[in-house]
Amino acid sequence: MDLGLIGKNVLVLASSKGLGKACALEFAREGANIMLTSRDEEQLSRTAEEIKAETGAMVHYKKCDITQRNEIDELVAETVEKLGSVDVLVNNAGGPPAGMFNDFEDEHWQGAFELTLLSLVRSVRAVTPNMRRNGGGRIVNIASSSFKQPIDGLILSNTFRTAINGLSKSLSQELGKDGILINTIGPGRIGTDRIGELDQMVADKKGLTAEEVKAGMESGIPLGRYGKPVEFARMVVFLCSGANTYITGQSLLIDGGMVKAL
Ligand code: NAP
Repeated sequence: MDLGLIGKNVLVLASSKGLGKACALEFAREGANIMLTSRDEEQLSRTAEEIKAETGAMVHYKKCDITQRNEIDELVAETVEKLGSVDVLVNNAGGPPAGMFNDFEDEHWQGAFELTLLSLVRSVRAVTPNMRRNGGGRIVNIASSSFKQPIDGLILSNTFRTAINGLSKSLSQELGKDGILINTIGPGRIGTDRIGELDQMVADKKGLTAEEVKAGMESGIPLGRYGKPVEFARMVVFLCSGANTYITGQSLLIDGGMVKAL
């Protein structure tokens, strides 16, 4: 299948490591030009070098805290300046803190809103004029399996990932006429630092090791293991490619069959 990504310009938010980095690497393997971003310039520089060394792709990076509107606007402006356009936007973010309802005050709710939902609103607002001028584009939002089935102890994620889903569906209705396709993907348990930290948190609470928690989680996944970041990234790349011409407004899970909800 020709993915038609050679020379396309791809902006991946929150991409110094984990799922964002894996997506950037897969786009680079397909011949796209990449803009990486996160809050840690040194880590970004290492990640950019790694991707360049492996793929020979053009990889830029810019430090950006996606909770800040002006930083997102500057990031998009620099992407257009350096790459020429934004053909693909991957909306990713750090995960909101774990906890139950009584653990959080207003400032935690506000922080999670700004990190997971408002960053998406702002980045879509910033890139769509450029995509319209270029006759279309592709957007994928990285959310969580919590939009389909709430996860115990992750009430902030459960709330805002569901909102991402609603927003994405609404946007698909508004953006379709401009040739902009937008979809949302929910990871189940894909082996990244974030998942390691969540396992450690559960382990500390239950007096287990992180390995024991992981083994318990894996026993509940039909495919019997955590996913690899590349297994997640391949679907992001497909949905953002020229090979996807008719899928928009959808939400799907990449979870090895973990979530049982229909
Ligand atoms: P990760 O390994 O912790 O990576 C998070 C990335 O986000 C890093 O590059 C981090 O860089 C960046 N980041 C965090 N806050 C940022 C901010 N304010 N501005 C800019 N960049 C920021 O996480 P992951 O596992 O890849 O997960 C990515 C997203 O998917 C998260 O929202 C997570 O909750 C969600 N998710 C993941 C899984 C999974 O299986 N991995 C499952 C469900 C949901 P800096 O900290 O240096 O800025």
